[in-house]
Amino acid sequence: MSRKTEQRDAIRAVLSDASRPLTAQEVQELSEELVPGIGIATVYRNLKAFHSEGWLELVEIAGQPARYELADIGHHHHFVCDACGKVYDIHGCAEGWRKLAPEGFSVARHELTLFGVCKDCD
Ligand SMILES: [Zn+2]
Ligand SMILES: [Zn+2]
Repeated sequence: MSRKTEQRDAIRAVLSDASRPLTAQEVQELSEELVPGIGIATVYRNLKAFHSEGWLELVEIAGQPARYELADIGHHHHFVCDACGKVYDIHGCAEGWRKLAPEGFSVARHELTLFGVCKDCD
């Protein structure tokens, strides 16, 4: 197997196994355990390719670096830990958000991000 393929497979495995969205930096650190010496430029290049293939989705949270997660995990939200900076998936959705819109407005989508301290940091 070529080194290029090995690196690509490692990045793919890291993202598949992650239960939360990862930054390029986090992907690099985790991939390095599988393929020592893997560089951040390689990680960026593969993330970009996976994103344009539609396998990854971008998670953008204000004041945070871009993160990536699998595109097929369905509707969900995120929890941001203010202490360690990790972002976790939340598998529920707030009830009643449609009713928050003013009278006569129709809501097409919503975003919801919770901020606080995760279990590991508490
Ligand atoms: Zn934390
Ligand atoms: Zn929701």
